[in-house]
Amino acid sequence: MDKWSLTFDLHTHTRLVRNGKEITHAVSTMEEVVLEARNKGLVKIGISNHGPGHVTYGLPMSSLEALRAEKERLQDKYPDIEILIGVEANIIDHSGLLDVRPEDFAKFDYVLAGYHYGIFGEHPVNAALLHGKNWLWEKTGGRSRLEGQWAGGSRPKGSLLEDNTQRMVAAIRKNRPLAVTHPGDKSPVDIEEVARACEATGTWMEINNFHKDLTVENLKRAAKFDVKFVIGSDAHKPERVGCFAEGLERLIAAGVDPERVVNLKKK
Ligand SMILES: [Zn+2]
Ligand SMILES: [Zn+2]
Repeated sequence: MDKWSLTFDLHTHTRLVRNGKEITHAVSTMEEVVLEARNKGLVKIGISNHGPGHVTYGLPMSSLEALRAEKERLQDKYPDIEILIGVEANIIDHSGLLDVRPEDFAKFDYVLAGYHYGIFGEHPVNAALLHGKNWLWEKTGGRSRLEGQWAGGSRPKGSLLEDNTQRMVAAIRKNRPLAVTHPGDKSPVDIEEVARACEATGTWMEINNFHKDLTVENLKRAAKFDVKFVIGSDAHKPERVGCFAEGLERLIAAGVDPERVVNLKKK
């Protein structure tokens, strides 16, 4: 475990202001994130706030200029670390639509994609129903039932699982994001189908250090495909930036070679 160190972290959130009010989500300033990343010896740090479609935490596209200006200021002040402005775009529907459109990808240094509640798109009733079903699934022990289906030797089935899987796979294939964040979090997915889409598109699968849904068993299933992994801290507080021990622990427990993780380096 202690043989490995993290080289970069592309999944961090910062304080944002929308319509003059602070969005009460992450507490870190960009400078605090950068300082913590330097303290932990990272060579690169990415700021990846939620895509603009998220009703409560979404990054206002109008704030991008200010984010870039702050990034430039910090880059001059701390030339020993590379600072990137990315986004954690939200998966909207079955067509693979994200709340960051392909024509806007170039406004960011990289695009991650993930499933979150709080995104409603053009069909808000359908979206609300899906979030509600996923929430109920989670609260009523759906995760262990899903694990039971896998453990029983058959690929899991069910309309909710197929619905979520189809959305995630379409988003990966259509947008080719750099990474899919916390696959399986907040919703059931067929992790093998997601891994297959990642293999086909070169998309990294995130081992989220905070959300544990790429479980040891799911990691074993995903690792059967020719995919790369990336560990993301998903830090919403400065001290969580660059944390990776829990992710590494699951990876090792799953017997996956840490060399397959793009941001781990042997000490
Ligand atoms: Zn997320
Ligand atoms: Zn996140």
